[in-house]
Amino acid sequence: MSGSPNPTPGRPLVAGPADPEHDPTAAYALDRAYVDRLTTRLLATSGATSSVTSPLDGAPLAHVPQSSEADVTEAFVRARRAQAAWARVPLDERSAMLLRLHDLVLDRQDEIVDLIVLESGKARKHASDEPLHIALTARYYARTAHRHLDTRRRLGVVPGLTRVEVNRVPKGVVGIISPWNYPFTMALCDGLPALLAGNAVVVKPDAQTMLSALLGARLLDEAGFPPDLWQVVAGPGPDLGPALVGGSDFVCFTGSTATGRIIARQCAERLIGCSLELGGKNPLLVLRDADLERAAEGAVRASFSNAGQLCVSTERLFVADQVYDRFVERFVARTEAMTLGATLDWVNDMGSLVSQDQLDTVVAHVEDAVARGARVLAGGRARPDLGPYFFEPTILEGVTPEMTCFGQETFGPVVSLYRFHDEADAVSRANEGEYGLNASIYSQDGARARAIARHVRCGTVNVNEAFGATFASIDAPMGGMRESGSGRRQGAEGILRYTEPQSVATQRLVRLAPVLGMSDETYAKVMTTNLRLMKKLGRA
Ligand code: NAD
Repeated sequence: MSGSPNPTPGRPLVAGPADPEHDPTAAYALDRAYVDRLTTRLLATSGATSSVTSPLDGAPLAHVPQSSEADVTEAFVRARRAQAAWARVPLDERSAMLLRLHDLVLDRQDEIVDLIVLESGKARKHASDEPLHIALTARYYARTAHRHLDTRRRLGVVPGLTRVEVNRVPKGVVGIISPWNYPFTMALCDGLPALLAGNAVVVKPDAQTMLSALLGARLLDEAGFPPDLWQVVAGPGPDLGPALVGGSDFVCFTGSTATGRIIARQCAERLIGCSLELGGKNPLLVLRDADLERAAEGAVRASFSNAGQLCVSTERLFVADQVYDRFVERFVARTEAMTLGATLDWVNDMGSLVSQDQLDTVVAHVEDAVARGARVLAGGRARPDLGPYFFEPTILEGVTPEMTCFGQETFGPVVSLYRFHDEADAVSRANEGEYGLNASIYSQDGARARAIARHVRCGTVNVNEAFGATFASIDAPMGGMRESGSGRRQGAEGILRYTEPQSVATQRLVRLAPVLGMSDETYAKVMTTNLRLMKKLGRA
């Protein structure tokens, strides 16, 4: 809308439907100069473009230049050059940049959230979590940098005479492949600890949500990070993936389990590490002593946040027999009261699915379940009247193992209800299947819920909360067991994965070898006596 007046005060990037330079069927459009400022942040010289479509109305938002394999290779050359200088920048300076990023994302929330809603179709209240999550992550790592990265003393083999220190050396250049479901935070959050630890990053965001990722790159520039340190490439994953893994010293992937396996194989071939944050079929348990209002409210957020397109969202609800009917009544009422819509304001409880592919999967899972005898207690229908990919928040009962949605991840707003008689049985059913990402337990007895949590095979367990308590507690590791992934984001684990531990031992006075003409046999005996003595003294 170059030249036309800004139609939405306070939201500089959104042109209105009346803008004559845009497709008259489009409800929203982006300022072209704004898009250009974002896409110049890309390394993309192939000449091809790919269009980003808004799920709010199905109309194109922008045409994004695409990277070639040669661009990916060049991105690594630039990143590697920048990393060599970056590794010498004092840790406190790197932390200060993260704190500037913290302020920037909080100050620019309106712009960030507008763009996320336009690109992903999600409700504003779900999009608004993304800049908050980045601010939390930036502050946490800035403030704990020394705790994680300072050189640490360790025990030496000869107490007092062997001084051992462990340095945390950056891996080099980290490759990040990020998905569309949380397009701003997933493109940034794993990269922040990588930068802090002295690495450069090459990120390939999902094609559907490139603009949110590019805005993240711009904000890093504004926070003071050298631009070459953070490279962004665009293109289909299968085309760019091999060059991206080929240039990386470590790969961080978030997406489907199927793609995770491909990445893991490619990393294994190169003998580099990777962390994989994959799918889930997450259980939520309502115990007989749960506060049912709280559990019903939490179950709505657990199941329908981001229209269920969330790796940690709940798709299986296990409810104690004694409270089943009372819980279900509350849960259904709250679900039916949800407001759906394709607008940029705060009124919607749930937005659109991201694409036709996602809608097709959700429709297929629900139709299959209903055809095989499942009952729909709420929702169950696509809503083309609201937007091309809308689907109602849906509660199913009577789901059985032969139905697709019993074990396969739907990644949409569909949850199945199951009764249980005893808690041990509920836990073993919650542990069924290949996944192990997130679980929630509702009970008024926190100690009992935490004891049960120890038997749940999931990387995160939330007691009396949906998923946010673990996800937003950045000091605690977050990730999956079994086929939900390997490695962890957040906490010490989330930054140490980007470092090589380097042990430096300085030996003083005595050598670690026979001295003064001592034979090897005598030396072995002296060492044996020493070992026995050390054990007696209680030494490690
Ligand atoms: P996906 O795994 O295909 O895509 C995720 C990212 O990987 C994208 O950036 C994509 O371009 C890239 N990619 C795809 N194939 C690649 C390859 N061979 N090499 C390198 N990169 C590749 O996931 P999707 O198709 O976007 O979604 C499918 C399913 O994945 C969803 O239905 C859901 O089950 C799961 N998913 C999980 C998360 C999560 O947060 N764990 C996020 C998005 C999707």
